[in-house]
Amino acid sequence: MTSTLTGKTALVTGSSRGIGRATALGLAREGALVAVHYGRDKQAAQETVGLIEKDGGRAFTIGAELGTPGAIDQLLDQLETGLREHTGATVLDILVNNAAATTPGNAPEDVSAEQIDQIFAVNAKAPFLLVQRALGLIPDGGRIINISSAVTRMAMPPQVVYAMSKGALDQLTLHLARHLAPRHITVNSVLPGATDNGSAAFQMPEVREPMSQLSAFKRLGEPEEVADVVVFLATDRARWITGASLDATGGSLLG
Ligand code: NAP
Repeated sequence: MTSTLTGKTALVTGSSRGIGRATALGLAREGALVAVHYGRDKQAAQETVGLIEKDGGRAFTIGAELGTPGAIDQLLDQLETGLREHTGATVLDILVNNAAATTPGNAPEDVSAEQIDQIFAVNAKAPFLLVQRALGLIPDGGRIINISSAVTRMAMPPQVVYAMSKGALDQLTLHLARHLAPRHITVNSVLPGATDNGSAAFQMPEVREPMSQLSAFKRLGEPEEVADVVVFLATDRARWITGASLDATGGSLLG
């Protein structure tokens, strides 16, 4: 696949690291101009842009901490400014809702109401509001890709709130796919399994080993392996896929 996205623009939320960074790199490699969004780590987002530019691609950073007051307005303002500067217009072809908050993994009995509000604010409400606000920029034939999780399909009681929020995100996929079909905008979810995002937890053998065993291939996924699925959905080759949930777990849900 070479330059399948030349002339396209993309926003990847939470692309300062992990799967989001790999997705931003993947989309840029295919020719898209990428808005690299971060929450708190501007330097990491700038590193993502640096990697894209080193690769011959084009990108710019935008910062907004989702789940805080005014974040969606801030994000949209910076997005429109960046797009205008780089393209002379404010068209957004591809929106990837990737940023997410995770829980420390509490027993359901110990979850607080505040934790539920915070997780839902970032993982479900922010993507909804972002899509709602960005729709005016997305042309017919555009793409919306929501990064969900395999935990919506397997029981992990300590992750129940996170899983509930990703379940809500999958509902956004389903209903918007129908709503936006007349405009040929496709809306899909990608479900990663345990993916080595470089965090300290995944380097600990007591975490890494059991998580590796989940996949049929008996290892963790790499961010690029999820990003490749997202990039595919963003291309014209995936034009007949909408309202779908694509498994990117290395066979973690085979039973
Ligand atoms: P990650 O390495 O933890 O990175 C999270 C990204 O989201 C960062 O760029 C972070 O930006 C941003 N972010 C987090 N909270 C934010 C907020 N409130 N406002 C704005 N940005 C925020 O994530 P990942 O592991 O690559 O996961 C990416 C996606 O895949 C997420 O949707 C996650 O739920 C999903 N997923 C991951 C796995 C896995 O095993 N890694 C498995 C299943 C699903 P800053 O650091 O700049 O704040």
